[in-house]
Amino acid sequence: MSNIARPRDLTAALQMLGEMDDAVLLAGGTDLMVEVNFGHRRPPSIVALRRVAELQELQVGDTEVRLGAGVTYTRIENQLPELVPALAAASRTVGSPQIRNAATIGGNLGTASPAGDTLPVLAALEAQVHIATPSGPRTMSIDDFIVGPKRNALAPGEIIEAVTVPRHRGSQHFLKVGTRNAMVISLAGVALVYDEDARAVRVGLGSVGPRPLRARDAEEFISSRIDWEARRADPADVSRFADMVAAESSPITDVRGTAEYRRHCVRTLAARALTRSLTA
Ligand SMILES: Cc1cc2nc3c(=O)[nH]c(=O)nc-3n(C[C@H](O)[C@H](O)[C@H](O)COP(=O)(O)OP(=O)(O)OC[C@H]3O[C@@H](n4cnc5c(N)ncnc54)[C@H](O)[C@@H]3O)c2cc1C
Repeated sequence: MSNIARPRDLTAALQMLGEMDDAVLLAGGTDLMVEVNFGHRRPPSIVALRRVAELQELQVGDTEVRLGAGVTYTRIENQLPELVPALAAASRTVGSPQIRNAATIGGNLGTASPAGDTLPVLAALEAQVHIATPSGPRTMSIDDFIVGPKRNALAPGEIIEAVTVPRHRGSQHFLKVGTRNAMVISLAGVALVYDEDARAVRVGLGSVGPRPLRARDAEEFISSRIDWEARRADPADVSRFADMVAAESSPITDVRGTAEYRRHCVRTLAARALTRSLTA
């Protein structure tokens, strides 16, 4: 690895990315350096983003929260537990404190792993991804941004600038199952947003499909069954909702677990997250 550029603002970062041959972006390095250390990647040049001021911004507005791509999990878990609790909960499950101090939300979006823990939360929140390009900014939904396993919609020369999530009344949860309680890649993850303003439940699923999934049939079903004034749902409807969420997952069997076990996890986590929202 030879050329390393350390821009201080986004304009310079875009310019350096365009000028350097096959340059790769580096944020916290907790995914990229693993690949380098294993010899899977040898980028000829690097654009290091840590000093890019715009990417470090975390702005709380009246209707939404905007997180610069360089915001770390430590900042999210410390600064957003009340405003975006599911994102804070997902951040808290990532790696160890050392990893969370370095790793960024932009890196999770950049890697676009099916097991990326913030991605089902961003799906359930219907987040928008803001992209800096040489010809000006563009914005797309998280749904359109993640296009497949470890594939996103970034074109060469583009940089993820920020992600915005809405603020709303109501609880949010992120629950994950792994082979142990900490420092673990998730076998299944469920994010549930109980949006009292829209009177809608939204569900994002991680590690149970090639990309983060929404459980739209289950969402529609339970949103119409909840008594929103009393914050109650019939236990039979909660159970049917959990079955529907599991049916909308699309897990595979791999070294970490079987598809059947993953579906079981999704069912259990969905029921638990909804029950917690109803009793919050
Ligand atoms: C021990 C360990 C435990 C982990 N545990 C978890 C876990 O529990 N859950 C989880 O989800 N992940 C986990 N990870 C993976 C990793 O920490 C996350 O995916 C993290 O969000 C990556 O962020 P980063 O800033 O380190 O990205 P980097 O490694 O710097 O970059 C990752 C990718 O994103 C690209 N990229 C980075 N920033 C941008 C940008 N602004 N615009 C465009 N592309 C960009 C890079 O070019 C690279 O391809 C773990 C990793 C380790 C080493």
